[in-house]
Amino acid sequence: MKIVVCVKAVPSSTEVRFDPVSHTIIRDGKQAVINPFDAAALECALRIRETAGAHVTTLSMGIPDTVRILRDTVARGADEAVLLSDRAFAGSDTLATSYALACAVRKTGVPDLLICGKMAVDGDTAQIGPELAAALGIPAVTNVKEILSVGEDRIGVIRESDDGEQEVSVCLPALITVVKSIVDPRMPSIAGIRAAEAAAVSVWTAEEIGADPERTGLAGSATQVVRTFSPERKKECVYIEGSAVEQADRLRALVEELS
Ligand SMILES: Cc1cc2nc3c(=O)[nH]c(=O)nc-3n(C[C@H](O)[C@H](O)[C@H](O)COP(=O)(O)OP(=O)(O)OC[C@H]3O[C@@H](n4cnc5c(N)ncnc54)[C@H](O)[C@@H]3O)c2cc1C
Repeated sequence: MKIVVCVKAVPSSTEVRFDPVSHTIIRDGKQAVINPFDAAALECALRIRETAGAHVTTLSMGIPDTVRILRDTVARGADEAVLLSDRAFAGSDTLATSYALACAVRKTGVPDLLICGKMAVDGDTAQIGPELAAALGIPAVTNVKEILSVGEDRIGVIRESDDGEQEVSVCLPALITVVKSIVDPRMPSIAGIRAAEAAAVSVWTAEEIGADPERTGLAGSATQVVRTFSPERKKECVYIEGSAVEQADRLRALVEELS
């Protein structure tokens, strides 16, 4: 069985910085970590490999420094890792990102199973998984909280929905997106870290995956960022003195003023 796990490098802090002129996100690879949902996705793939046998590839689109994150996935147990990195991908929205990921997946042949995190903790759209499945023409099951069975041509899962849980059996090839709590990711072993240092991460350009330049980067993005800003946070502290009754009156007046 072939499994591809989509992995995104996300900032280690929640602060996202924007370029004031282009309104694009400033990526600082040095502080990046693996998206926690993707660490869980990788763990799911490794557990399937342990029980059913599988070849696990991690795939990411990002800046060159994302190689560091992909080495970490090899240290955790992935068999190989692929990075899509090219200036042509800069400014991609989710449509252009999923298109590039789909081109890369097609290059090596659609695997039996694709696993994405439910969402990236920085972008937060949860669009990439379903978009990637649509681009590849395969079924998608989102919000998977448990994998029940993995057969040669079907996978059984439990997914969370707004109204409760659903047990779903889907034919392969398929894409699933997993919630963070599905499993606790393992930490890289010392042997794994050593192996990862020497591991070759394949780096593919837009041309190498046969991507249409009109469908990548800003050109391929259906959405355009008009303005980016951090919400202004105002803090004001008011001390209320006096008797309990005076304090209550003043507090009520303040609440009325603010509402
Ligand atoms: C209008 C717009 C403009 C943007 N402009 C820029 C920009 O200029 N520069 C920039 O860096 N970003 C930009 N982005 C952000 C970029 O599109 C997203 O980072 C990317 O598409 C993933 O979306 P997300 O973070 O919401 O992921 P989600 O859809 O929430 O992620 C779900 C899952 O998809 C997979 N996944 C997501 N992203 C990747 C990836 N890159 N590689 C592999 N797997 C992945 C992971 O498994 C992840 O858990 C822009 C987004 C929008 C909407």
